[in-house]
Amino acid sequence: MAGHIPEEKVDEIRKAVDIVDVVGEHVQLKKQGRNYFGLCPFHGENTPSFSVSADKQIFHCFGCGKGGNVYSFLMEMEGYTFLQAVKKVADQTGHPLPEQFIETQQPDHDPESQSSLDAHAWLTKLYHHLLRNSKEGQEAYEYLLQRGFTEDTINRHQLGYSPSSNDFVVTFLEKKGFHPQQMVKAGLLNTNEQGGYFDRFRGRIMFPLRNHLGKTVAFAGRATGSQEPKYLNSPETDLFRKGRLLYNFDLARGSIRKQNQIILFEGYADVISADQAGIQNGIATMGTSVSDTQAQLIKRYADKVIICYDGDDAGIEAAVKAAKLLKKAGCETNVARVPNGMDPDEFIKKFGGERFRREILDASDPYTSFMIHYLRRGFNLQLEGDRITFIERVLQEVAQLDRAIEREHYLNEIAEEFQMSMSTLKEEVEQLRLQHPKLDSMDKRRHTNSTSSKSVHHKLLPAFHNAERKLIAYMLKNPFIADKVQEELGGSFNITEHQVIVTHLYAYYEDGHESDISHFVERIEDPSLRNLVIHLAMSPLAEEEVSDKEIDDYIHRIRLENSDRVDIKSLEAELKRAEQHNEPIKAAEIAMKILRRKQELKNTH
Ligand SMILES: [Zn+2]
Repeated sequence: MAGHIPEEKVDEIRKAVDIVDVVGEHVQLKKQGRNYFGLCPFHGENTPSFSVSADKQIFHCFGCGKGGNVYSFLMEMEGYTFLQAVKKVADQTGHPLPEQFIETQQPDHDPESQSSLDAHAWLTKLYHHLLRNSKEGQEAYEYLLQRGFTEDTINRHQLGYSPSSNDFVVTFLEKKGFHPQQMVKAGLLNTNEQGGYFDRFRGRIMFPLRNHLGKTVAFAGRATGSQEPKYLNSPETDLFRKGRLLYNFDLARGSIRKQNQIILFEGYADVISADQAGIQNGIATMGTSVSDTQAQLIKRYADKVIICYDGDDAGIEAAVKAAKLLKKAGCETNVARVPNGMDPDEFIKKFGGERFRREILDASDPYTSFMIHYLRRGFNLQLEGDRITFIERVLQEVAQLDRAIEREHYLNEIAEEFQMSMSTLKEEVEQLRLQHPKLDSMDKRRHTNSTSSKSVHHKLLPAFHNAERKLIAYMLKNPFIADKVQEELGGSFNITEHQVIVTHLYAYYEDGHESDISHFVERIEDPSLRNLVIHLAMSPLAEEEVSDKEIDDYIHRIRLENSDRVDIKSLEAELKRAEQHNEPIKAAEIAMKILRRKQELKNTH
């Protein structure tokens, strides 16, 4: 499995990182007892059944059954090959893999995507260089400084400049060996009517759009003068899907994890501005409304999100849409209000980061408050008809709140403002909740979800099957128990999967290894077997002390099953012979014996 890298090296790299940190970059984890829990990134769920063990350096999902060590996690999560996962972890430890291993590595993507990624990487460097070092770029650079960008920010976000030339990039890419037609597909070049190629971005300040791994997958170009259009982006390509990309996620990830909170902006300029002002958990969608995928991603990384869109009508409408979607995804959603039709970038430039944090972010409205405020705009509350419709709409929002205390809070406000009785309002809300059982069943649904997924693993197994599982759990933890079992049972477990696992395990200990689940699972290629090993290793009973007597009992039970099975098998062979020799009376006797044996087997389980 380890490709060309020696097993010891693979092991050394694995031990140099903590799986909790690596998984923690993708899943928001909370410590609970000895393990960490979070929402499984591999199947949709509302209650966490995904756990990571720091002691054992493995992860396991009790819902979908996936499990493994840090390498399997990255392979599953990022679609890496084993070698790529090892390389990634090695990079993280600060001791990259020696060249000889990297050369044999497969590219991360298909050749076309890889060449597009390479071209984007080259151009990010080129544009940045030109901004700093060309005469034309110098003007753009001054322009950025004037607009309040610091040198640090320009470097951190790799801002650049594309020269006002038709073929500067065409020539550059050709020299680097890229095929122009492919570069058109990558969104970096355009073609004219004569079939010639020319630069897509000319005379613009360039903002690289990076994916979650920090790789540039597209550009946004902003005109410095009167050029039209003012904003020009890369087209959507295989690498760049607007509905999937969250701008700045690569840089914001650490801060998001620490604060368990995301600030969602409308565009990259707001993110960069906020970042420069010390607000580093900001991300943005690329000028499109939040997609379901993005909402799910946001929920995966943080419990709370503050939507911070432009203060104009379009911004508010977009915030309403985003807020509904994020709420539906299960985020605690607040909406910030930027005053006077300003955008966040303008506000920060004008009043500074400190005031932005205090007056905009900290003062953001919880979802329901925001919605009530928003609804108010559409009605003339002096008119009785409008007033009633408005109150009805508000009650619909309030009815969706899970907590009674929150519902009461908003009802109080309405009761006071419109001089209505609390009991009437409460009754209305209860009616609404009854009419829409969906509102009430969120908790119930969660409940049934979690019990049904658990029951998959907790279904009643025959006693010998349980005995085998428990025994393996102890053997994984303790080589001495494995030794004892090997001596007394060898490979004669009754379940084929168990036979394979113990065979691997005996060999593992014979090679002189200590108990190390994370290392051991490397040896098991079959993913379903690997998941089973992880499942057993993570079961709570593996933590308990076990007596010799208990181990003996398990071994005894497994043997019993075994000999019964052997007995039945030999009886069945006898029956066949009797039938072949045309001895009906004998055959009937044997058949009765088999039946009785099977009956006994059933009763002992
Ligand atoms: Zn799962």
